[in-house]
Amino acid sequence: MKQVIIIGGGAAGFFCAANLDKNKYNIRILEQNKDVLQKVKISGGGRCNVTHACFDPSDLVKFYPRGEKELRSVFSKFQPGDTMDWFEQRGVELKIENDNRVFPVSNQSQSIIDTLTSETEKNNVEVITQTTVVSIEKEGEVFVITTKTGTYTADYVVFATGSAPKSLKLVEQLGHKIVSLVPSLFTFNIKHPLLSEHPGTSFEWAEVNIPKLKLGESGPLLITHWGLSGPAVLKLSAWGARKLAEVGYKFEIFINFISKSIEDAEEDFVNFKENNPKKSIGQSKIFNVTNRFWNSLLTFSKIDSEKHIANVSKKEMLVLLENLCQLKLNVDGKSTFKDEFVTAGGVDLKEINFKTMESKIVPNFYLAGEVLNIDAITGGFNFQACWSEAWLIAQELNSK
Ligand SMILES: Cc1cc2nc3c(=O)[nH]c(=O)nc-3n(C[C@H](O)[C@H](O)[C@H](O)COP(=O)(O)OP(=O)(O)OC[C@H]3O[C@@H](n4cnc5c(N)ncnc54)[C@H](O)[C@@H]3O)c2cc1C
Repeated sequence: MKQVIIIGGGAAGFFCAANLDKNKYNIRILEQNKDVLQKVKISGGGRCNVTHACFDPSDLVKFYPRGEKELRSVFSKFQPGDTMDWFEQRGVELKIENDNRVFPVSNQSQSIIDTLTSETEKNNVEVITQTTVVSIEKEGEVFVITTKTGTYTADYVVFATGSAPKSLKLVEQLGHKIVSLVPSLFTFNIKHPLLSEHPGTSFEWAEVNIPKLKLGESGPLLITHWGLSGPAVLKLSAWGARKLAEVGYKFEIFINFISKSIEDAEEDFVNFKENNPKKSIGQSKIFNVTNRFWNSLLTFSKIDSEKHIANVSKKEMLVLLENLCQLKLNVDGKSTFKDEFVTAGGVDLKEINFKTMESKIVPNFYLAGEVLNIDAITGGFNFQACWSEAWLIAQELNSK
């Protein structure tokens, strides 16, 4: 029987192994760590956001700052609906949350791990742990894979090592170009009196803009102990991953906490003032922000919260609205978003045939997962790329 060696026991490696034809191939996974599927374990805060309920490939690719064009054909073959079917048919109940993220009903990433391990067991996959691959060479038609503990040969290699720089060197040595690695999906460190008083406060829909870098995003926003997080910031960190790395994560950002123009906010303010002249400004619920945040905003804008709204001057109102709709903050560094993070960069996409995921440089050598210069915003899209690419490789090999 022909030999397939999968390097890397992560999401992509296991999904490929589980879908290969055991009657055609002897399948082995080589994993450097003692445990496999470690990232799946910690993913989604331990719940594993397994995919995203977006079933149209042309909509789905828009969530990938890197890989949008290339993934179109991959998703036309295997998309989130197929992922959901795959796991559900194997007994994992899934649920779609309000924001379309998909999780196991158990809220335990272990459900996904158990299924992937039992499917590979059924497929007679030999999982060899504590085996770090240190070189890959092609001798005639056969790959010779050297590890710290021994040598293996294979007819086909699936390279799914994630983004570990040392492992990327192995593909570089085979002649591939590597796009330099930078982090994606992170939160912004900001020290500001208005934020430091409100960790945990969220805003339903805010806008975040970095005019100097021509970057902007909108979405829910969250104040943390260190600065700002939430989907708006995470999306910005993904789309701006490379530009933000270039400026050393130090830049000016403008926040619109209510996602309204100052003119529209002024109209709301004036209407409220006309209808409620005797209300104190501190008690006036004009905008969709918490009372505590509103009162801090008043203090920061040097407006007495006891003042009747009718007595708030136009100048005071404009300062207040500028702080609400266009607050300038200085970002000084980044922090890891613990629920999900990925690396932008990896194997250059021009060197991959996206119909099969085979390398255009080395025949019979396939790549899937974070090792490629593909990554997405948070929400289950990163795993979806792994499942789809790995599935495609299995189909290709099964058809040989
Ligand atoms: C904290 C966290 C939470 C996340 N949550 C989510 C989420 O909820 N939803 C989502 O879509 N994405 C999530 N992600 C991203 C997602 O985990 C990754 O995109 C995905 O795991 C990539 O899978 P992979 O198989 O390509 O690589 P990995 O999961 O990194 O697996 C690669 C494997 O290869 C092994 N390996 C590397 N080099 C060698 C070598 N030389 N020899 C042998 N073995 C080697 C590694 O030890 C590893 O086990 C999260 C990421 C993190 C860090």
